[in-house]
Amino acid sequence: MRQSVYMEDLDAFSYREAVARKETVVLIPVGSIEQHGPHMPLNVDVLLSRAMAGQVAEELRGLVAAPVVYGYKSQQRSGGGNHLPGTTSLDAATIISIAKTLTLEFARHGARKIAFINGHFENYQFLYEGVDLALRELQLAGIEDMKVVLLSYWDFIDDATIAELYPDGFTGWDLEHGGVLETSLMLHLFPEKVDMAKVVDAPPAVMPNYDVLPVRPELTPESGCLSSAAAATADKGITLLKRARSAMSTALTSEFGLSGR
Ligand SMILES: [Zn+2]
Repeated sequence: MRQSVYMEDLDAFSYREAVARKETVVLIPVGSIEQHGPHMPLNVDVLLSRAMAGQVAEELRGLVAAPVVYGYKSQQRSGGGNHLPGTTSLDAATIISIAKTLTLEFARHGARKIAFINGHFENYQFLYEGVDLALRELQLAGIEDMKVVLLSYWDFIDDATIAELYPDGFTGWDLEHGGVLETSLMLHLFPEKVDMAKVVDAPPAVMPNYDVLPVRPELTPESGCLSSAAAATADKGITLLKRARSAMSTALTSEFGLSGR
């Protein structure tokens, strides 16, 4: 039996050996607990970032760290807003601290190649800051060979795939919250967690090109979704997963100078 790529499945001794191997990339999934409409659970971003990381780890023979479950506050223009029930978020300082701490922890275990696999739009800049602070600290301690890649998985869906899967036009990744991308991936990977009968088929939300605080709740559609998931299918999920897996693996193989597999 091949060893699991998921860190939590391993015993401490197998983990210690795997993480310290020079070629091992540690992939850290980062999600959120956030409403995803009436048709999907609160942990979509955790499930999808972890599954994406698992797929890439299979290609790279890497290790998937235990996921960061909570994320940064949902923004009204990309996640419906933090006021919505179920959405449970961390302050930016906490996310920065988590990203910094995990980078330092995996460095302590011997890892020198780390990739944060982000699954929640709003996390990105705070993960970036945490990684930057960790690298500064490592460099001051004389550790110069640590390299970290930070990515959001949807950025690996190319224009040709978007044209193929969104024949009626693409609203942009920000409005895709609870839409075709996430729902299709969930239908493929976790079909038992999706109830397509509850999808609200409404036109995409119309948001201003600026933020207002406190949020005006009436700007967010009742469903909490910013675009319709009605066109989501498991087949689209298969395509999305395959293309993202391949493009992410190529990027990480190149960035980390891994030998072809
Ligand atoms: Zn999401």
